[in-house]
Amino acid sequence: PGRLDGKVALITGAASGMGLAAAQIFAAEGAKVVATDVSIKALNDAVDAITADGHDALALELNVASPESWASVVEATLAKYGTVDVLVNNAGIHKAKGILDAELDDWNLVMAVNSTGVWLGMKSVIPIMQKNGGGSIVNVSSIAGIVGGLPDAGGAAYSASKGAVRSLTKHAAQWFGKDDIRVNSIHPGSIYTGLAVAAGVSREQAAESVANEVPLPGKVGDPSDIAYGMLYLASSESKYVTGTELVIDGGWISH
Ligand code: NAD
Repeated sequence: PGRLDGKVALITGAASGMGLAAAQIFAAEGAKVVATDVSIKALNDAVDAITADGHDALALELNVASPESWASVVEATLAKYGTVDVLVNNAGIHKAKGILDAELDDWNLVMAVNSTGVWLGMKSVIPIMQKNGGGSIVNVSSIAGIVGGLPDAGGAAYSASKGAVRSLTKHAAQWFGKDDIRVNSIHPGSIYTGLAVAAGVSREQAAESVANEVPLPGKVGDPSDIAYGMLYLASSESKYVTGTELVIDGGWISH
């Protein structure tokens, strides 16, 4: 039996990186996966590959920063699968701009996707989980949301947005525990994904840039390293775990 047999799991940012890895792994563990992303072409290709493997998955276009977009995704999800058991708020963007060189538009965009998007996801799905009798929510923050001053973690808005995800997660865990809705955050370190590729960084360069920070060999992580953490938090194996933060960073911030 799969670890998510029969569960309906909605994942944001599922066209690339750790969201895509989660969609693949959750589907292989028996979940019905609602894979969502703004990048619909890449998402359709990813979901076609998952269903070609005999798994159950649905691709839906979603801009996490838009309440209207969330409303149509919720409607289409309920029409197809009837409920949502697991929500993974994974979509995120990065802009390497500091306090002095960022403009208001840079700041607002990062906050809109990374923080407001997580709030809107919970606002849209928690009422379904309340009716459902419970659920599990996994919010993707970053080690930058814990240690805001990491030089390699990029921008000021990024650190602030991920700090907001961390505290919003704990708020939600307190508020909705009575409904048996668990809410936890994941804090990746340096994971080699589309974000790094888009920034023109090779795997070797990524490894080199954290060589002095990360004790484990290999230095950078893979999308599946995060997706397996998401799987644990999504499944009932973590039924007594809520309001916590799972750091997956090769040991970077452990010192
Ligand atoms: P990625 O770029 O490979 O994937 C992110 C996905 O989110 C993309 O498919 C993109 O199209 C989608 N997306 C962007 N804006 C969106 C929006 N408004 N609505 C819906 N989808 C949107 O990135 P990744 O590295 O897999 O990152 C996933 C999450 O992990 C992000 O929240 C990121 O901040 C976080 N994170 C990444 C790292 C890392 O080292 N890669 C480290 C810490 C945290």
